[in-house]
Amino acid sequence: MRVWYLSTGRHHGLTIAIGSPGSWCDQSGEHRALAVDPKRPAKWPLLFPNAGGSRQSPVNIETSLVTSDDSLRNEPLTWKYVPENCFSINNTGYSWRVDVNGTGSELIGGPLGNSKYRLEQFHCHWGSDSSQGSEHTVDGKPYAGELHLVHWNYYKYSSFKEALENSDGLAVLGVLLEVESQDHPEIDKIVSLIPKIMFKGQKENISFSIDPAKLLPNDTSYWTYLGSLTTPPCLESVIWILFKNSIRVSEKQLNIFRSLRSCQPNSQTEQVLLQNYRPPLPLGNRILRECTCGSV
Ligand SMILES: [Zn+2]
Repeated sequence: MRVWYLSTGRHHGLTIAIGSPGSWCDQSGEHRALAVDPKRPAKWPLLFPNAGGSRQSPVNIETSLVTSDDSLRNEPLTWKYVPENCFSINNTGYSWRVDVNGTGSELIGGPLGNSKYRLEQFHCHWGSDSSQGSEHTVDGKPYAGELHLVHWNYYKYSSFKEALENSDGLAVLGVLLEVESQDHPEIDKIVSLIPKIMFKGQKENISFSIDPAKLLPNDTSYWTYLGSLTTPPCLESVIWILFKNSIRVSEKQLNIFRSLRSCQPNSQTEQVLLQNYRPPLPLGNRILRECTCGSV
């Protein structure tokens, strides 16, 4: 769900690469990097036609345009996860990504109809400083980062790859990050693994539990809309569920994410992964719905 702006320095001299680090992209054979101006996402459709579609993500959440939908509350969004099933963490060259054995996990209800979704992986987006970093913005305001928990519709499709190609194939939970002085305990488990995966392609098995539910805010009110992967090939297969409430992480934790390298260990030029988000795209005719759900 990403575009990656890679840099050897802060705020200038950007070397920009757009790639497909997520497993959906790798599996669809679209893994590639190319030079593109990040301020001109309109160029992407030249190489990835879906990127010019009318169902692209992320978007700015214009709260005055949001429709309250009681039907979302009638079928509450619920999830269950198996903390022991987070089995490895990878440096994709664009983010860290925790891969999950989805057996036993389930995301249902809310905007998902009768389908059932299973967790595949989760990863993060951040910025070169904490005034930016999220993919979605709220009334124009960016957050310091955004977690994405990527689920696929195993009720209708036989594989993650098949789900990718369908309009209701994926459901992504988006969690906005804000900075406070205290470390986030569950994020700290991921932070502890970062030194093992400093360079692109490195992977570390996870020998302890990470509970995805502890990465979600207590108040689970959310916005939802139909969107896409935020990276080429930008497939329009995502039901987005963005929590209204953020979780808090420390600047120290984000700085450790920013220390990741987007290059391999033997690379001539060392590239630091300072920011890795795609800017918002037009909402167009799509409907933004909200569910005010309260605390779990
Ligand atoms: Zn993402």
